Amino acid sequence: MIVMYVLLIIVLIFVFYMVLPNYIARNRSKDVVKTIPFNKEKKCIALTFDDGPDPLYTNRLLDILKRNNVKATFFLVAHKAEQNIDIVNKMKHEGHGIGMHTLYHKSAWLSFPWETINEFRKGLGIFKRLGINITYYRPPWGTFNALTLKSALKNKLKIILWTVEAYDWRKNNSASNIEKILLDRTKDKDIIVLHDSGGAKGAPNNTLDALESTIPKLLKSGYNFITIDEII
Ligand SMILES: [Zn+2]
Repeated sequence: MIVMYVLLIIVLIFVFYMVLPNYIARNRSKDVVKTIPFNKEKKCIALTFDDGPDPLYTNRLLDILKRNNVKATFFLVAHKAEQNIDIVNKMKHEGHGIGMHTLYHKSAWLSFPWETINEFRKGLGIFKRLGINITYYRPPWGTFNALTLKSALKNKLKIILWTVEAYDWRKNNSASNIEKILLDRTKDKDIIVLHDSGGAKGAPNNTLDALESTIPKLLKSGYNFITIDEII
């Protein structure tokens, strides 16, 4: 009998703390943005990078963006931002958008309610100390628990998801495959997610190698690159 009760409680937590809030946030909330919500004369896309800043990769990425005169948006892990202030300042100085990607990149589904609330408080506190006003947020893996959306709204943050991903964090992906996915799938108003840190060992090198050739091709196809600040 006790086993039955324990099982029932686990199922209820799974449904009401994880699955339902996740479904509602991802499919029903007007505060969760997945695509560029307006028409512009020119075709528009938003390039976004998660999980940095990373001293091994982010500077090269900033150089690629600068060389192509393209602005992007970085969803930074707060404790990594605190450890790489120079890179964050460079991003800011070069006109890129900066959003928060949690404090330690812990999944919402593995976080207790009080942890979720604290992540927002401590993470936003770090950015405030760095002189950055955060107005948008991306949850790791795009997952929500019952507190994620509520905490974001309480902190006046929009939530930004994406429409195109190239699985660039995977171990056996290659630069040419990432480029192929991006060129095949990208269309007007897409928000593209890539990673300049994390994932399989060395994976961001594939992302950067792909971008060297993909960004000029997307520019040649007539895409205008905008930041999340221009969207919300
Ligand atoms: Zn992430």
